Amino acid sequence: MERLFADVILPLAIAPLTFEVEESMSDNIVVGSGVAVPLGENKIYPGIVKRLHHNTPPYKRLRTVAAIVRTEPLAGIGQIALWEWMAEYYMCTEGEIMRAALPSLLKPSAENDDLFSKLVFSLGREQMLRLPKGLRSEAALNEALESLLPRRKAQYKAMMEFLGLCGEGHYFDGEVPRRALEASTPIIAKLLEGGLLESYDRERTPHYESTSFRHQTTLSEVQASALGKLQESLSRHRTTLLHGITGSGKTELYIRLVEATLSRGESVLYLIPELALTEQLILRLRAAFGDGLVVYHSGMTARARTEMYIKLSRSEGGEIVVGTRSAILLPLNNLGLIIVDEEHDRSFKQEDPAPRFSARDVAVWMAHNLGTRTLLGSATPSLESFYNAYTGRYGYVWLGERFGSGALPTVTVSNTIKSAQRGERKGHINKELRDAIDTALAEHRQVMLFQNRRGFAPYVECPSCGWSARCPHCGVALTYYKKGNRLRCNLCGHSEDTPPRCPACQQGVLEPQGFGTEKIEESTQELFPQARVARLDGDVAASAQRLRNTIRSFERGETDILIGTGLITKGFDFEGVSVVGILNADNLLCRPDFRAEERAFQTIVQITGRAGRTDDKGHTIIQTSQPENHTIIQAAKGDYRAMALCQLRDREAFGYPPFTRLVAITLKHTSAEGVYRGARHLAARLKELIGRGVSDAHAPAVSHIADTYIMEIIVRIHRNESPADTKGLIREALREFSRNKLYGRIAVTVNVDPQG
Ligand code: ADP
Ligand code: ZN
Ligand code: ZN
Repeated sequence: MERLFADVILPLAIAPLTFEVEESMSDNIVVGSGVAVPLGENKIYPGIVKRLHHNTPPYKRLRTVAAIVRTEPLAGIGQIALWEWMAEYYMCTEGEIMRAALPSLLKPSAENDDLFSKLVFSLGREQMLRLPKGLRSEAALNEALESLLPRRKAQYKAMMEFLGLCGEGHYFDGEVPRRALEASTPIIAKLLEGGLLESYDRERTPHYESTSFRHQTTLSEVQASALGKLQESLSRHRTTLLHGITGSGKTELYIRLVEATLSRGESVLYLIPELALTEQLILRLRAAFGDGLVVYHSGMTARARTEMYIKLSRSEGGEIVVGTRSAILLPLNNLGLIIVDEEHDRSFKQEDPAPRFSARDVAVWMAHNLGTRTLLGSATPSLESFYNAYTGRYGYVWLGERFGSGALPTVTVSNTIKSAQRGERKGHINKELRDAIDTALAEHRQVMLFQNRRGFAPYVECPSCGWSARCPHCGVALTYYKKGNRLRCNLCGHSEDTPPRCPACQQGVLEPQGFGTEKIEESTQELFPQARVARLDGDVAASAQRLRNTIRSFERGETDILIGTGLITKGFDFEGVSVVGILNADNLLCRPDFRAEERAFQTIVQITGRAGRTDDKGHTIIQTSQPENHTIIQAAKGDYRAMALCQLRDREAFGYPPFTRLVAITLKHTSAEGVYRGARHLAARLKELIGRGVSDAHAPAVSHIADTYIMEIIVRIHRNESPADTKGLIREALREFSRNKLYGRIAVTVNVDPQG
């Protein structure tokens, strides 16, 4: 008998390890099985079998798989291939990816195996309710219900709720999980006692199926033609980009494609940016797909996510799952289509902790390697995706008309410097915007004011006209350094004294803080005392309840003016909004980041799209101290193509993505001196190994957080170089570095395709 070995992925930042499989276990172990393996002196770790083979590993101490805890595969062949690719591409380990995919299975345990497997690999159970046999006829059921009516109204209501969930025609065979009912526990207990319901336990399911009501819409001619082109494109290209302006009805098209895919018995994964803000979208999808819709997000408990994971891994297809980025790691069998809605959104990229992956890019890889199809959709695609479509690598479908009577809003660019000089600027609002707000309020319409959070780095801004300091060489925002009152460029090192007065309007005294949303809320209320003003920013969103209330009250027209940060750009569909104001577009442009212009364009166009969604009265006003800036002009015209071609030209000239790939290496340590020396040493070694493309070690814009000092090195991989080879060299340098006693305490992280 040949000896059998299993390479096991462990939930750690290490490569898979090999264990021997005892003969008694060999019939029950398959690729993807969940196993328990010994590690260290008395630790037992859960892991997943990556490969089975007969090659004796060269270990000094070969250990044996302790137990098979789940024979049924926890990861399919496709998933294991995906993890392997992700680990390679994102320079992390398969274990880190497994940990992101299966959060609660993976806690190490020193307990004995039995307990371990029960605790860790069993699904929760839940109470199910159904009618007892005796009531499964019309007459008996009616009689029972009538007996409740006179005095036991609460029980009657609970029974009606139960029957409602069973759905018409399924009263006698319907089964409903206890948690689906709103009725209280004592009421249910009484129904069980009284023999009106009976209960049993079963393994908990992540979602509950019931007969759904379908919400029917008819596509416009333009939409119908776009749908035809999409279907055609999806059959010819692995990845397709749907570029449709805001309000064009992209969601309606997604719904049609999902229906078609489900009807073939295939599953669909529908990725969305952030869940808290997509209640409206979920409601629309629920209306279309009923309770069969599975919603998966990182706010779920680890246990609920794991349950859903296991349930989905058993399904053979026909699932529709909506989720945020980590849903890309779900085990969906027979996956026919992945939709990435608002594909430009940066929340698809996980920046911390590892795996630092982009769910959008993983979706594209899956389309090219695992046989699914991927549809990217946006009104303002990322330049990477647009470039891929432009060069024919992706299919491309354009939807250039708003649905129904909604026209794109009129856009006005309002000059903050001129306004300040004329004395027309009050409370950060120019006369043009004030007049538009007055008109909207008089017509009982609503207003959204956008004020983004300040960039991470402090920079100076004129309080009276909004002008801010930029590098004369690079055009990016200068960072303010309190020490010496200097302004410095993080890209080229240019530095200058902070001017005492604003050079643009000659009035304002430059201050290192801008104005935040709270300040704006206050001054807006003063300017429009009769208006009901609310704020929606990170502080409000920190409470799900406050967030929901703020959105609902605006939706119902109980608020007139909503002031918000980037949060309000995302996919909201409010009918009453006629005016959108962008208080200071300069803030968007002034970031020390090569994506600043692309992002500014996306934000302005997305927020502009919130106005006049149902009629032709929308008006957007962009306040800026640089009305002649080309990105502002392109955004005001909504001219995506002009922006994209202009930015792509710059990216090519300066060697930025999509023409190169970036790898950011970050070093952290409590000693500024230590991290500085370590980073210089590592940068020098990388330069030796890789040559061109390695930046000097430098402090990032935020270089000191809570007693930790940070240094960064950027490696730029050019088109004619092999990313895999360069990454191999980076790995080699990092391995040496971690072994170097001088630098052992420095924490190093690697971020491939960083977004920030
Ligand atoms: P997008 O996602 O492209 O911004 P949406 O799908 O949100 O656009 O559509 C904008 C609005 O138009 C929504 O309120 C949507 O319900 C409505 N709409 C779009 N297409 C249709 C249609 N064919 N029938 C009815 N309403 C539609
Ligand atoms: Zn510069
Ligand atoms: Zn000024």
